[in-house]
Amino acid sequence: MTGGADFDEDGSAAERKMRFLYALRSRGVTDSRVLSAMEVIDRGHFVRGLFAERAYEDMPLPIACGQTISQPSIVGIMTQALAVQPRDKVLEVGTGSGYQAAILSQLARRVYTVDRHRRLVREADALFRALDLTNITAITGDGSFGLPDQAPFDRIIVTAAAEDPPGPLLAQLKTGGIMVLPVGQSDTVQSLIKVTRTERGFDYDELRPVRFVPLVEGIGTE
Ligand code: SAH
Repeated sequence: MTGGADFDEDGSAAERKMRFLYALRSRGVTDSRVLSAMEVIDRGHFVRGLFAERAYEDMPLPIACGQTISQPSIVGIMTQALAVQPRDKVLEVGTGSGYQAAILSQLARRVYTVDRHRRLVREADALFRALDLTNITAITGDGSFGLPDQAPFDRIIVTAAAEDPPGPLLAQLKTGGIMVLPVGQSDTVQSLIKVTRTERGFDYDELRPVRFVPLVEGIGTE
């Protein structure tokens, strides 16, 4: 069959995926490994209820506990900036829906993801099992302290905004390691920055303006 209106189920799913990947590319996600990971991991699994039908649009969407799943192009740009290598041990602060961790699981050896909301960790963990993503460990905790037991990390990604890079996370980054995170006040425009740990200290690159939910202290009530 040819023509727009005649697409069957598979046809329209393939179309949707093509449009999704095209939008990522046009917004600056060009790394082929990142694009393949985002092709494999279906964002539709990570968005529930009313908003599920918008899962393939390039916009952040609400998830449980008053949080958001990030915009796919921002997930792509952050993942690309992180330059994950196949042997890497990665820490993500801010599990949320689990979408970003699932993408990282395709690129790294091992992913640890931490969220302050038990419910989000439980739901994301169930999805990781259902999708057979066996190299992700999801943990409830205040991620601004990192995971001292698993440190140091090759890569750290923070998906909630702090005013400054948290000291414990800088301390848990290996020499040669990279951390990508939004910094700034939560109610204004924040900057996405890339921190590289060198032999001499830390190099900072400002990547672009972004808007994330705030990094909040302590464990949540849900
Ligand atoms: N990466 C997620 C989106 C995260 S939204 C995804 O792919 O869906 C930001 C998340 O950071 C929220 O789930 C929030 O609960 C979490 N968060 C905020 N402060 C935190 C902290 N101190 N420690 C751990 N998680 C935190």
